[in-house]
Amino acid sequence: MKVHQPPAVRTTCPYCGVGCGLRAAPDGHGGAAISGDTEHPANFGRMCSKGAALGETLGLGERLLYPMLRQRDGTFVRLDWTSALNRVAGEFERILDRDGPDAVAFYLSGQLLTEDYYVANKLMKGFLGSANVDTNSRLCMASTVAGQRRAFGSDTVPGCYEDLDLADLIVLVGSNAAWCHPVLYQRMVANKRTRGAKIVVIDPRRTASAEDADLVLQIRGGTDTALFCGLLVHLAEGNALAHQAIDTHTTGFLETLARAREIAPGVSATASATGLDPADVARFFDLFVSTERVVSAFSQGVNQSAQGTDKVNAIINCHLATGRIGRPGMGPFSLTGQPNAMGGREVGGLANQLAAHMGFTPTDIDRVRRFWDAPRMATGEGHKAVAMFEAIAAGRIKALWVMATNPAVSLPDAAAVRAALGKLELMVVSDNVLSTDTVNCGPHILLPAAAWGEKDGTVTNSERRISRQRAFLPLPGEAQPDWWIVTNVARRLGFAAQFPYRSAADIFREHAALSAFENDGTRDFDIGSLAGLDDRAYDAFEPVQWPKPVRQAARQRLFESGGFYTPDHKARFVAPEPLGPTVDVDRELTFRLNTGRVRDQWHTMTRTGLSPKLAAHRSEPFVEVNPDDAARAGVADGGFARVSTRYGSAVLRVQIHDSQPAGTLFAPIHWSGATSAAARVGDLVAPVTDPHSGQPDAKATPATIAPVEFLMGGFALTRAPIALPDGTWWARVAVTGGVGYRFATNVGPAAWRDHLAGVLVGELAEYVDEARGVFRTASFIDGRLDGCVFLGPSASVPNTVPPWDAVKALFEADTIDARERQTLLSGRSGLPDPGPLVCACFAVGLAGIENAVASGATSVEKIGKLLRAGTNCGSCVPELKKIVARAQVVEKDCGMETAYARV
Ligand code: SF4
Repeated sequence: MKVHQPPAVRTTCPYCGVGCGLRAAPDGHGGAAISGDTEHPANFGRMCSKGAALGETLGLGERLLYPMLRQRDGTFVRLDWTSALNRVAGEFERILDRDGPDAVAFYLSGQLLTEDYYVANKLMKGFLGSANVDTNSRLCMASTVAGQRRAFGSDTVPGCYEDLDLADLIVLVGSNAAWCHPVLYQRMVANKRTRGAKIVVIDPRRTASAEDADLVLQIRGGTDTALFCGLLVHLAEGNALAHQAIDTHTTGFLETLARAREIAPGVSATASATGLDPADVARFFDLFVSTERVVSAFSQGVNQSAQGTDKVNAIINCHLATGRIGRPGMGPFSLTGQPNAMGGREVGGLANQLAAHMGFTPTDIDRVRRFWDAPRMATGEGHKAVAMFEAIAAGRIKALWVMATNPAVSLPDAAAVRAALGKLELMVVSDNVLSTDTVNCGPHILLPAAAWGEKDGTVTNSERRISRQRAFLPLPGEAQPDWWIVTNVARRLGFAAQFPYRSAADIFREHAALSAFENDGTRDFDIGSLAGLDDRAYDAFEPVQWPKPVRQAARQRLFESGGFYTPDHKARFVAPEPLGPTVDVDRELTFRLNTGRVRDQWHTMTRTGLSPKLAAHRSEPFVEVNPDDAARAGVADGGFARVSTRYGSAVLRVQIHDSQPAGTLFAPIHWSGATSAAARVGDLVAPVTDPHSGQPDAKATPATIAPVEFLMGGFALTRAPIALPDGTWWARVAVTGGVGYRFATNVGPAAWRDHLAGVLVGELAEYVDEARGVFRTASFIDGRLDGCVFLGPSASVPNTVPPWDAVKALFEADTIDARERQTLLSGRSGLPDPGPLVCACFAVGLAGIENAVASGATSVEKIGKLLRAGTNCGSCVPELKKIVARAQVVEKDCGMETAYARV
């Protein structure tokens, strides 16, 4: 019988701020095939590895499906929605009546849709009377918001993605776009290839984005402000200023230039402040001076800093000084981390905004009060994220509602955050995942929220483009959209008239109307022309850019002819503070810990961590160490180390790279208590924030590193999650048809055998050698490998434990033949080992690529022709380039005549 396939639904990716349009074709079994939407102007059909793997993340195995109430003994019981909503409303009301509005807070997320964000912000700021609404976007781009507001009078991104196609010079500052905004990065690389644009990468680490760069400036962490002050001075002295633009459209230039001269008066002073080679500084300055079309694209390396706002303004200053703003191919460009950080800003989802890009001025408060018919308006800014959790720890905030985020992992000093959560009188969590570190902190009420693919609404990407996220799956269990949950709580609090929404479309219309309400052009955000969309038009909504929403073909830029949103319509040059130490210097903690992302994971892995394809790229939490530092600290490549700060510690696999600057460590943020034994990196990060934006500095925590010895190591593959012996270090890895664990341990073979008794079922085969520290066990059911555990001494794991990737392939296969079975248990090599995954789109491992290079595929293009690797999303292209370059170095070092020939 032919199964009816529903048509593809046009929607938007739930991960990064590029906001790629996708087509999701439901498979009729709860999943979907995902492809890029060729008509979406953010990506024109392209996707990165994360977007392409979305189909692997749609299962319901880890979902929260029903409202739950925590009992006295800590266990949860199911509640019906009526009781759950009554209880949330009743408890908020009780605490509000007793302690007032400062005692309640919402902590929201850049993963929420604009409509969800709007009602949550409206309820808190207009009806509960508090501005204690903040969001994980505080960790992402708050410094950009503050910097843009200081310079432009509004939180406005002046340019659009098309500028990346038209620029002749792209300056990437603190942005590993190759991994974190891959589709935009491919646009930059295409520009370089087709138009000859130059790319300059400014980053303390040599990241994947450096592979295509014409100039790489491995700047000393935290000194970007000095570099751009030096550039401003150079522009002034090189006669490269746009005097007319400065005079007509800006104020504060001379004071700012004077401050820049104090900080970095020339090339050599800039070089010495930033740790760069003077020749490289001069080359960068000359490139900037001589190129009219310059885009300076920046991201977390700029934002996540104790001086993030000054860094943003130092960059903007150079664009204002040259008049390179709001024109095709030029401008400062904030690459937003999250899918809807921009939408959250539009509705006022930050504690220092009100709504629709309005602030807490008396006029704005009154205007919004009248529009909302709000009885209890917040009259001043609330607590920003870090301060909010400090207020919880201090007992000043007693009731918190967390929506769609995982602060127990992602906030700095995360252990203190978890302790603070434990003090709450009322903790409500809306989420779609049953077990996150935040959920595991024991909220009083758990509310099942709709997930991507089930929810419906809008998001705004980094170029101000509003797109629809559309549902293509039914709501599972009793899950409901966040807007529905908040609306029903608001009604129970007595605000039914002001929360009449029946759909996301109703909320969008009100949001659009508020943006235009009494807006005579003094506010940048005005989408009032969309307030009249009927339901059908909202369903069919095509991506549009604000401020004046027009169809997708048009590109909108701002500020080409001034018109800034300051009282005098002039932009402000902002003089940065003189550079000081980012954090306290500590004699014991001599390293600076930098945190960030890997290519194929997102945030705390609650969705990407479900994808076997994505897990294959970097399957363990790690710390990158410079070779000299590693030698001094006594840590070995592939071994383990404890990274400690004043706030906590983590045990991570060591990767030694000369791309890591001396004196610094790098660790990814993704792993949590749910996915690893001891790799929650948020625990290590100092809760030091930028004074203007409140954004935490996640790039420079003083740290130390020391080796950790495990006598044995190995892995397990099972059909269901298992507990590993106490004291074992582990990382959970998604694999097809089950779950994997990579582990290291001092627990010996006999104890493992006892621990696993009854865990593996079916036909069991075992080998135990206590003296050598070897244990191998596998179970088979109906000719299939059902589960296995391999343990061997750390010093010689390759000889005693078969290759992970090879065994994983057998575990994922339908059958295992006699020879494979024998080889598996013998401990001998002989299983085909694809090696770690490089190309997620076509599942191409390192071994295959190295073989291809050895047989003459001497370029990325040739590898693509042979293996297809790198020919789809392009996310792995920088890694392919590295593999080719590495082979060339080996050849050169070996003095062989025929490149790539391996004998
Ligand atoms: Fe999603 Fe990747 Fe596009 Fe970002 S670049 S929106 S993660 S597909």
